[in-house]
Amino acid sequence: MGDFGSALWSVEEALRIDAAILATTRDAVIITDLVPKILAVNPAFTEITGYAEAEVIGKSPSILSSGRHDRAFYQAMWLSLRETGYWQGEIWNRRKDGEMYPELLTLSAVCNEQGDPVHYVGVVTDLSQLRLHEERSPRLAHYDPLTALPNRLLLEARLQHTLERASREENRAAVLVIDLDQFKTINDSHGHAAGDALLVAVTRRLRTRLREEDTLSRLAGDQFVLVLEALHDYQEAEIMARSIQALLESPFVLPDGCKAFVRASVGISVYPQDGNTAQALLVGADAAVHRAKELGGRQFCYYTSELNVQARATLVMEEALRRALDQEEFVLYYQPKIDLRSGRIVGAEALLRWQRPGCGLVSPLEFIPAAEKNGLIEGIGAWVIRDACRQMRAWQDTGLTEIKVAVNVSARQFRYGGLEEEIIQALTQYGVKPSHLMLELTESMLMDAPEKAVARMTALKRLGLRLSLDDFGTGYSSLAYLGRFPIDQMKIDRSFVKDIVTDPGAATIATSVISLAHRMRVGVVAEGVETEAQAGYLRQNGCDEIQGYLFSKPLPAEEFAELVRQGESLPMPEAPLQSRTLLIVDDEPHILAALQRMLADEGYGIFTATSAHEGLELLAKNPVQVILSDQRMPAMSGAEFLGCVKALYPDTVRMVLSGYAELETVVQAVNEGAIYKFFVKPWDEEQLRAQIRDAFLYYEGVIQPRRGVASGL
Ligand code: C2E
Ligand code: CA
Ligand code: CA
Repeated sequence: MGDFGSALWSVEEALRIDAAILATTRDAVIITDLVPKILAVNPAFTEITGYAEAEVIGKSPSILSSGRHDRAFYQAMWLSLRETGYWQGEIWNRRKDGEMYPELLTLSAVCNEQGDPVHYVGVVTDLSQLRLHEERSPRLAHYDPLTALPNRLLLEARLQHTLERASREENRAAVLVIDLDQFKTINDSHGHAAGDALLVAVTRRLRTRLREEDTLSRLAGDQFVLVLEALHDYQEAEIMARSIQALLESPFVLPDGCKAFVRASVGISVYPQDGNTAQALLVGADAAVHRAKELGGRQFCYYTSELNVQARATLVMEEALRRALDQEEFVLYYQPKIDLRSGRIVGAEALLRWQRPGCGLVSPLEFIPAAEKNGLIEGIGAWVIRDACRQMRAWQDTGLTEIKVAVNVSARQFRYGGLEEEIIQALTQYGVKPSHLMLELTESMLMDAPEKAVARMTALKRLGLRLSLDDFGTGYSSLAYLGRFPIDQMKIDRSFVKDIVTDPGAATIATSVISLAHRMRVGVVAEGVETEAQAGYLRQNGCDEIQGYLFSKPLPAEEFAELVRQGESLPMPEAPLQSRTLLIVDDEPHILAALQRMLADEGYGIFTATSAHEGLELLAKNPVQVILSDQRMPAMSGAEFLGCVKALYPDTVRMVLSGYAELETVVQAVNEGAIYKFFVKPWDEEQLRAQIRDAFLYYEGVIQPRRGVASGL
């Protein structure tokens, strides 16, 4: 290292740039200190920027800023320069006359013997000319002369930017190295000109697949690199890899008229898993493409081995699903929908099953998501609609003319343009009335693009179909749109039904959906109903239909038809004999017995339960006006139980029997309105009977409350 007295000299030394080159190169060179202030520029700088050397010495390079990049951009640039001693990228700057121009900028730190930076050197290539001549004279520094694609230098710069952006926006990115299998053979047997023509044709095809933000580049020979930005899911990279492979499958015609068949191997590296520098990702993707070739070519490989395992599984699944469609391995099961007023079957939901050889019956949850991703869902969905129509025809032919079937439609199928055609075709082929077919659409697929969804749904309604809003409550429907969706039915999601009897939160959602649906004049179905208590609660709250294991699991078509033929129906509760019904809850059976005996002549209908849970089940199934509960019970105290009852059945009159020890909790529950009255054990029979009579009168509105009175007996 030489003398640091002359900035320019030391820099030249460090960069091993000959002064003569610096003076004559067409690239601008700027040397700054660490502030950074400009220490020196070369003649090309003046040519490109319009500033004379004397005008910029001592100034900050920011005088060239175009204002097109935000602060984060410059921060990332300086950060990289400070931490790695290097930054390269395309950037917009402004000339002295105000004109903006794109440049390729390479910044390097020049270090002293201790490794500390002492200067920065910027090398600028003006890209504006390059851009102008890109198509006509691609023989320039950053482009591949044959294909006019960015070359390695420009690729690395763009990739570095992609990574910086991905890091800021917390996105993923992927690098795909695409290698043409057997390109060499074509080159050798048809000549280099043919090889070149083929590369140009391949480039043209590849370009058709790119999104605007993707960068395609040719590295050398038959190797292309594709940088994919802003990926949400690394699997988008493999979808792209396969779509590229498919794209290159159809033959190319060479200048000599021969057909050339090109197969591609693709290696994929993913940011951030496989590295966070352009270099690391390129090396990774390159290693991966070698592996793909070793495996016989016409494959894609990830750099990371777990991703490969997953990708293989995805491929195996895809092939199996394709075969399943061809070989008719799918079958529809039918789950009855029951009318809660009559208890009768009013229709069925068709649920898909896959009879996968060697695997038994596979649940849709295991293959629909994959089919949705790889696009096979469009074919599978079309099959489901056809098969449901075929089945309705078959039923109608045996006299079961009134069975209506609902089929599930996936998001991709709903967006797919051919859906209406498919439906019309299936309905006409099998002579099924459109009103017999219902489509179940989920909230989330509508809310993706609600305006479009309204239009799609309106078109489907025009065919005469009925529409159901599935899994309602799990998405994030905006009420504004809900009113505009032309639906006939809402389905309360199973997750709310599950806890409907015991969890006031779930119950509130369910009852709100019911009243919302009714205000919108659409029907409402609860799915996943497994117990009589759930059915009872839903009936009491005006739900129209239920579906669930309580009545039946999804059944093969023949078994379902048999249920309908037998006139099988859900047992309806008998009308209550007594208009006054009391529920007594106590974990000690002898107390229950004593209280029952004591009230035997009062003419009440009496239910007894030995736990809060059992009490809630009884309340769900039966109309009850007055509840008397013990306070001290193992799983849930009387006050907690009645708090829950207050939320679920606010009109009931709730009373508690308590020992002295628990009075404090009880008084609090009284103050919160959960308890109307409480009695302290042991009780006076005569007075307790009178109080219960009062409670019914209070419920019936005959007497005013005497609330909060501590009725110790
Ligand atoms: P989904 O539309 O919410 O269907 C209801 C699911 O709940 C079905 O599961 C059904 O068997 C199950 N189920 C019904 N009653 C009960 C119950 O009482 N308790 C419990 N625990 N579960 C009950 P399945 O058949 O496994 O279907 C799962 C999902 O797969 C469906 O959810 C639907 O989203 C999808 N799917 C099913 N068939 C198709 C189809 O043909 N096309 C599309 N795109 N998706 C389908
Ligand atoms: Ca459904
Ligand atoms: Ca559902």
